[in-house]
Parts: sequence; C-alpha cells; structure tokens
Amino acid sequence: MKVFNCDRCGHEILVDKASELEEIKCSHCNKEFIVDSKTKRLALIIVIALIMVISLIISLISTAFNISLIIMLIPTLLIGFFAYRFALLILAKLNKINYEGK
Ligand SMILES: [Zn+2]
Repeated sequence: MKVFNCDRCGHEILVDKASELEEIKCSHCNKEFIVDSKTKRLALIIVIALIMVISLIISLISTAFNISLIIMLIPTLLIGFFAYRFALLILAKLNKINYEGK
C-alpha cells in the first residue's frame, strides 16, 4: 500500500484503509490530504473502462436470457456508484495514488 510523507511535519502516512482513499489525514499534525487531479483522471479512466466492460456483459446476459435491459440497468447503476472508490483502491494497490494538501 501507498506510504507518503506529510509535507507539513514529515510524518509517514500509510494509506491502508479503503474508506480513507479519497481523503486522508496526517495522524501527527492533522493536515488533510485529498487525491490529486492526476489520480482523479486515472480513476475516471478505470471507471469508464469498468462500465464499458460491465455494460457489455449485461447486454450479453439480457440477450441470452431475454431479460429487459431496463431491469439490467439497476446492477449497472449500483456498480457505477461504487466504481470510483473501487478504481481508487486499484490505484492504491498499484501504488499509483497520489495526494495533495487540501
Ligand atoms: Zn503531518
């Protein structure tokens, strides 16, 4: 997982909780950090790729089982809702996540 140094106090900040990926706080001086614009762009690309793959799978399932596409839209929306956080998790695992001061 990602480790970076707080730019105010130099304390090491460990990014290890999925719930803290978007915003993280230095445990030493309480300075807050948010993901930088480059990380946001990367996350958005992953989200778009995920949604394209998922909608392809869903359209295949709805054709094969003759299920209305509108019913199949519900899981797509649910997945889309969590996709951004999931993309950040992937970036954190790959150590591609970066933060900037809030
Ligand atoms: Zn700090």
